[in-house]
Amino acid sequence: MSNKSANNLAPTILDLTPDAARERLSTWVEGRKLPRFRGEQIHRRLWVQPVGAWSEATELPAALRAELEAEFPLRRLKEVVSELSQDGTRKFLWRLDDGEAIESVLIPSGSRRTLCISSQAGCALGCVFCATGLMGFRRNLSPFEIAGQVREVMLRDPADKPSNIVFMGMGEPLLNWPGVDVALTILNNPEGLGIGARHITVSTVGIIPGMKKLAARPEQFRLAISLHAPTAERRLAIMPIEKKYDLKAVLEAAAAFRKRITFEYVMIGGKNDSDQDADALAALAHKHGALVNLLPLHPGGAPGLEPTPSNKIKNFAGRLQARGVEAVVRRSRGLDIKAACGQLAGQTGSDLTH
Ligand code: SAH
Ligand code: SF4
Repeated sequence: MSNKSANNLAPTILDLTPDAARERLSTWVEGRKLPRFRGEQIHRRLWVQPVGAWSEATELPAALRAELEAEFPLRRLKEVVSELSQDGTRKFLWRLDDGEAIESVLIPSGSRRTLCISSQAGCALGCVFCATGLMGFRRNLSPFEIAGQVREVMLRDPADKPSNIVFMGMGEPLLNWPGVDVALTILNNPEGLGIGARHITVSTVGIIPGMKKLAARPEQFRLAISLHAPTAERRLAIMPIEKKYDLKAVLEAAAAFRKRITFEYVMIGGKNDSDQDADALAALAHKHGALVNLLPLHPGGAPGLEPTPSNKIKNFAGRLQARGVEAVVRRSRGLDIKAACGQLAGQTGSDLTH
């Protein structure tokens, strides 16, 4: 692993996989001639039963807590905004140590709590409907800054521990593979956050080298492809990445994934919502055995674009279903708190970043 983290700060104990952290702690505990079980007690406090500061780990002697504070300081994401929507969705804006701001959104639904997390500050890919795209790229997040979004939510209220994770916040996760790779291990490992791989979804516009790396991992992480248009031509009009990784190549790479995939499809008035689009999308979904998530366009992220009216979205979904495709219309959540990716950071970015 590289020594330099995404933010040019030295990696901390929370940037390591649970196994690597255990190794580092046990060497340290041995060097201090402490009993071995201390290493285990300390390790639990990283992710399994996290503390905000070592002083809170009262099962440890006070002198040891002070030493840990000096040796393995626990980084935090600073909560700048926590906004609760009328529908129960909660949006967080976190400030990182270098002043960058990122977002997470907690979406409760029945017994599920899905946390939508960010993988980069900003995004370089400039999809025309996306507020994060408008901000441009700032930097990659370190493993801690990614998995730490879950940690912070748990520190605020352990009952909020997410059951599901989606990489659908700010940034393109597969353009930050070193950070996302380690973060996936922390999220999934029983000695990390212990969230089942099938409950963790990586969403990508189709960064092919990253898709191959994700596919090569042994766990059953889920893949969502942000398709948004059923032909190369229509896709290019809204997603510049089509120039580099075209639809055909992305779908070929998806076929190699060997797990059921999801197509994400933001419904934009007049851009991708015609009957022909539905039929072409149905053919692709059929061929790839993909579930289709239809997302009503969140208006705040997309100046100059119109959302598809809801009755038209229903018809579009019906057309897919009539062709045997499993299509779900996602409810727009958190409209009153601008809970679409990048909207909060985009809105207040200039006064939050410095
Ligand atoms: N970069 C990755 C993951 C983050 S974006 C990707 O694009 O897949 C996560 C999802 O948010 C994508 O499916 C994207 O299309 C969706 N999204 C972005 N802007 C939106 C908007 N204004 N309304 C609705 N969904 C939006
Ligand atoms: Fe980046 Fe995803 Fe937004 Fe496109 S939709 S600009 S890839 S974050």
